[in-house]
Amino acid sequence: MTVSTPKVGHDPHAAAKDNMSALERIHAAFAKRGLEAYGEGVSQLEHAIQCGVFAQRDGASPALVVAAFLHDIGHLLHELPQDVAERGVDTLHESSGSAWLSQYFGPEVTEPVRLHVAAKRYLAMIEPGYFDQLSDASRLSLKLQGGPMTAAQAQAFAAEPFFADAVRLRRWDEEGKIVGYEGPGAAHFDAVMLACLQRP
Ligand code: FE
Ligand code: FE
Repeated sequence: MTVSTPKVGHDPHAAAKDNMSALERIHAAFAKRGLEAYGEGVSQLEHAIQCGVFAQRDGASPALVVAAFLHDIGHLLHELPQDVAERGVDTLHESSGSAWLSQYFGPEVTEPVRLHVAAKRYLAMIEPGYFDQLSDASRLSLKLQGGPMTAAQAQAFAAEPFFADAVRLRRWDEEGKIVGYEGPGAAHFDAVMLACLQRP
């Protein structure tokens, strides 16, 4: 005789609760370290907001807007000082950030985040003049991150499924360093983040 197992303890509101906690944890990360300098004359939070806003301006998908807003969250999760690059340390924030975000978001969000440093190394190899327009902090971190890609590395990178999104994100990353920019608050991205949250 087959006995069907009743779904004991199923909470129809569990997803909503978890979604809340994801946003709360993201906001907590910005609250904790968002006012620290990005190293470019803007704070981590200002940089995140500018990147997200420019992604929206350029008609990016919701997932790519979220990726742009959260691409440097790895900088907010570790306990190291923000000036570690000046001390010759690469914190691998793109990897820690994308791994942390994968608790909540799918690859459309996490992959452009994971690849945003590779995109800089790619553009430094492929695009004349790109290196020269990088900020001092970005040039310093590029050196720590391995410098411009080789031709073979660039070819492999261009075959990544989220290659194009990573390169787009990188453009906003470069642009999002405007001192004194008057943007929206961090809550501006709550709706788009909620729309992109995934549960395993
Ligand atoms: Fe970054
Ligand atoms: Fe950045």
